[in-house]
Amino acid sequence: MQAFGYFYAMPTPSLQMVDLQGQHARLQPELDAALAQVMAHGQFIRGPEVEALAQELAHYLGVAHVIPCGNGTDALQLALMALDLPRGGEVIMPAFNYIATAEAAALLGLRPVFVDIDPATFQLDVAKVADALTDNTVAIMPVHLFGQCVEMGPLLQLARQRGLYVVEDAAQAIGATCRLPAGNAKQAGTMGHLGTTSFFPSKNLGCLGDGGAVFTDDPQLAERVRLLANHGQPQKYQHTLIGLNSRLDTLQAAVLRVKLRHLPAFTEARQVAAQRYDALLGGLKRLTLPAPSAHSTHVFHQYTVRVPMRAPLRQFLQERGIPTMIYYPMPLHLQPAFAYLGHRPGDFPVAEQACLEVLSLPMHTELTPAQQHYLADCLDAALKEQYV
Ligand SMILES: *Cc1c(COP(=O)(O)O)cnc(C)c1O
Repeated sequence: MQAFGYFYAMPTPSLQMVDLQGQHARLQPELDAALAQVMAHGQFIRGPEVEALAQELAHYLGVAHVIPCGNGTDALQLALMALDLPRGGEVIMPAFNYIATAEAAALLGLRPVFVDIDPATFQLDVAKVADALTDNTVAIMPVHLFGQCVEMGPLLQLARQRGLYVVEDAAQAIGATCRLPAGNAKQAGTMGHLGTTSFFPSKNLGCLGDGGAVFTDDPQLAERVRLLANHGQPQKYQHTLIGLNSRLDTLQAAVLRVKLRHLPAFTEARQVAAQRYDALLGGLKRLTLPAPSAHSTHVFHQYTVRVPMRAPLRQFLQERGIPTMIYYPMPLHLQPAFAYLGHRPGDFPVAEQACLEVLSLPMHTELTPAQQHYLADCLDAALKEQYV
């Protein structure tokens, strides 16, 4: 650590992007009991906790069916497989995103068709979706990035008009609600034909390893996803579909049942921390804070700011014990894996600019005011001094 003006005397509370150890320490007795119960009954695959979690999560989300599976990427693939889309079909999705959504489509022989994002919210720019539709379009995959929902009202209307499937990627937005034009609000992942989430440890509802789930109100799609996630077998050694081995471990389901009970409190802790960041960082020059959306709540999977000259700022913060992350440094249309789509720099300028400027700050359920004050003071000093 560098000696630095009045910081010299300040405590330096240890900051992490996520603090799962801290969260688990608080829940330790509940988690221990849940894990011990599975150890005792010994049904590690398809044990009773898996179905119990499915029921409880369905109730929480207000959706008819939840099908747990191996991870969030499999959930996307299972959702697309359930729709039985024709190879070569085009699937609309944002250019600024984690790879999984595009990967799932491409693995099934579908063609990812990228669309640019809204610069304020980082979400799929719904106004640009219509221009990307062709006779080959089969589905739209809105991704509720960083914890806010895509503007689903007009998107669902467009999909209905054009007869397109909607598969929502809610890996980062479990618990966020979207206001629809009818005046009602629905949970992220429950508005399209199918929705998916991830229980990766650092997600808002995370387990102690990999996990994911598919959501749907359609009983037939639910049954197909259930079959596909378990080797396409309605009964042991009878296979009606070619499926995957993608099941949520009973131990993970047991952990998730504990954490689901705390999810509203987790979400509130993130929202309180975000409000504190807003208040502390609001006056800082050259820093653009996350924009609230008019139609969605924000569950702050990430608190992502924009800042010019990002690299030296990150370095400055790192030297003071403050980790930051870049979600995401490269838009999907410029990833080597998607070179076959023939895109060039400039094709999705808003996504490309975001990749140059975004910076995600520590955000989790255990963040303390002292940590946030320390971070804000360091950021203030950095921005005043042009990072030197
Ligand atoms: C985390 C994530 C996924 C994939 O989830 P895994 O469980 O890691 O496979 C998919 N989409 C988005 C937007 C994600 O953030």
